[in-house]
Amino acid sequence: MDLSLEGRTAVVTGGSSGIGLATARQFLLEGAAVAICGRDRDRLDTAGNALQSVFGPDNVLAVSCDVTKDGDVKDFAKAVEDWRGGIDILVNNAGQGRMTTFADTTDQMWRDELELKYFSQIYPVRAFKPMLDKSNAAAILIVNSLLAYQPEPYMVCTSSARAGIQSLAKSLATEFAPSIRVNSVVLGLIDSGQWERRFQARENKNQTRQEWISALAKSKHIPIGRLGEPEEIARAIVFMTSPAAGYMTGASLEISGGVSRHI
Ligand code: NDP
Repeated sequence: MDLSLEGRTAVVTGGSSGIGLATARQFLLEGAAVAICGRDRDRLDTAGNALQSVFGPDNVLAVSCDVTKDGDVKDFAKAVEDWRGGIDILVNNAGQGRMTTFADTTDQMWRDELELKYFSQIYPVRAFKPMLDKSNAAAILIVNSLLAYQPEPYMVCTSSARAGIQSLAKSLATEFAPSIRVNSVVLGLIDSGQWERRFQARENKNQTRQEWISALAKSKHIPIGRLGEPEEIARAIVFMTSPAAGYMTGASLEISGGVSRHI
């Protein structure tokens, strides 16, 4: 299938690790140029250099940026505009989950979580919209979690914030139509940097990574029996943001190995 991404420009927030990095690589494989951002300079440089060495220095831009900071995001957008003159695709991927129950979530944690989930969408959408407005194939993709529909008791504030983001995605899809398509992916457990950090912090240090992942998949009752790979998410994101999915907007794609319980 021709995704018609040759020569297009995509921005992937949080493109220095996991799903974001896999998505950046997939866009490049399809012939698009990609700008990524992240906060940790070393991780960003490693990812940017690795992508540039395969796809060429002109096709990759890596900019240090915290998506919860308006000034950072504006600077990122300016750097991208100077680099390519515009963009066609924005993937709002940066972020992470917070593991807390209602009882142990403080007011500050609630504020931090709501700020991360909402402003990691609001600031990039605002900063990149003038460039998306000039594209003839503009698309925004929101990376979200199945927690939006199926909250977990130990991820109370994250789940609540994620439900709000699904509402925001729908509102943006309506307000920006027909010129910018807006869709989301709602993910189950994907084997990325987040899970690597949780593996490193595991209680039973004798457990190998494979054993730990298998036990996790079993405890979560994932029908496919394993965690997802970042590349499995990246391929879906790249399709949904490509001109090949031109009639898709306001949609949400669940990629969870079958773990959802609702119809
Ligand atoms: P990773 O930790 O591997 O990657 C997260 C990326 O986001 C990194 O590049 C990180 O870089 C960046 N990032 C985090 N916070 C910010 C910030 N404030 N500003 C800019 N960049 C930031 O995790 P995943 O690939 O798993 O996560 C990608 C997205 O998918 C996240 O939004 C996550 O919540 C979501 N998700 C993941 C699931 C999973 O099971 N893996 C399940 C459901 C949703 P740095 O830290 O250097 O800033």
